Amino acid sequence: MAANPQRDFPEAYELCKKFDISDANMEEIVQRLTKEIKMGLAKDTHPRAVVKCFITYVQDLPTGKERGKYLALDLGGTNFRVLLVTLRSETEIDIESKSYVISHTLMEGPGKNLFDFIAECLSSFCKDYHIEKENLPLGFTFSFPLKQVGINKGIMITWTKGFKCDGVVGKNVVELLQDAINRRGDLKVRIVAILNDTTGTLMSCAFGNRNCRIGLIVGTGSNACYVEKTSNTEMLEGYQTSNKPNMIVNCELGAFGDNGVLDFIRTPYDNAVDKQSINPKRQTLEKCISGMYLGELVRHVVVELMGKGLLFKGLDSQAIHEKWRFQTSYISDIESDPEGSYRQAAMIMDQMGIRTHVEKDLACLRYICQTVSTRSAKLTSCVLACLIQKMNTKDCSVGIDGGVYRYHPHYHNLLVENMNKLLKGSAKFELIVSEDGSGRGAALIAAVSV
Ligand code: BGC
Ligand code: MG
Repeated sequence: MAANPQRDFPEAYELCKKFDISDANMEEIVQRLTKEIKMGLAKDTHPRAVVKCFITYVQDLPTGKERGKYLALDLGGTNFRVLLVTLRSETEIDIESKSYVISHTLMEGPGKNLFDFIAECLSSFCKDYHIEKENLPLGFTFSFPLKQVGINKGIMITWTKGFKCDGVVGKNVVELLQDAINRRGDLKVRIVAILNDTTGTLMSCAFGNRNCRIGLIVGTGSNACYVEKTSNTEMLEGYQTSNKPNMIVNCELGAFGDNGVLDFIRTPYDNAVDKQSINPKRQTLEKCISGMYLGELVRHVVVELMGKGLLFKGLDSQAIHEKWRFQTSYISDIESDPEGSYRQAAMIMDQMGIRTHVEKDLACLRYICQTVSTRSAKLTSCVLACLIQKMNTKDCSVGIDGGVYRYHPHYHNLLVENMNKLLKGSAKFELIVSEDGSGRGAALIAAVSV
């Protein structure tokens, strides 16, 4: 029988209420975010703005006519990837790619080592495909806050997610990569563009869907970009007289709330996760939304209930007390069990050293997962509704990528439901999985910028 949270585990039910965001609060969040975005766009408020709204120098969406052979690098998600993208026709795109694991040592070590490693992977990839002397254009998807000063020049602002490498903040990342390539001396490529994964996602989606106006990532990290009127992008030199009407803006939304404006919806569990992260007090919204943190939030709630003897009574394990051990993919798995079945939930807890078939406990675990993922989806809905209203569009598509959106069984539906609540029929929208934004999108940007 389906569980009734209020009756079956009232204390857990009460605790989970802290994560609930009412309709009124969702609307408040949309208002607050709109204000922060405007601050990021305007020249006099940009320096102190929390949501930076970096201009990307990408002013043309793809026409569908782009062709050619491009290299792409993708850094900032779960894996580092090198890709060779051949745009043959609107429907025929060949992608060859290889993933490489970035070790913890590299993620938290000197930046030079990281860029040398990237160059090494690129070199070995190019040799495998015999293109090391072809001088191919390369698009670098670099998914961190970057102040762009041109299509192939960007100054690193701060690391996010699991990265923290010395000697990169304040530097032009394209130059760091170019230097690493030059140090090797065995490779000829032209770095023609640097971009955020959200921008790649938007471009990749727009290639086949001309109505795409937003790129969204809900993966390890979370962020969105959108198409703004150039006349509003005050950070662009000569924005008033630019002959291109549009500019993709990388909002860097993960930082929304870093000035306290989201404190009214944050919970003690958010605080705990923030404190133990490598970037405390930063990326407030991201820490409520993205894959790097959702599993950890669930783990904190579970541990608290276990400590009070309210969950998995009489059972304990070392694993459940280990930070970051409860992966966000578990949430998707647990919520994928059909109503009334707890097969995956039991399997996952077994892996966590807690062997139980007590249905009420497994139902409670699932309820905690639903609570955390629903809040994430509500916040993402606020983001999308805000951007749609900001653009004042009546109809647009959103290109989306990232593991949370892709693998969670209900995330898409939760987004649609909550966006409808917020937009109240004022705009139509379509949410589309964007295929390989970081690779295809990088190639497209390289194509429109050479
Ligand atoms: C980064 C963004 C990126 C997002 C998704 C965030 O941590 O700051 O630049 O788009 O993660 O990868
Ligand atoms: Mg990615």
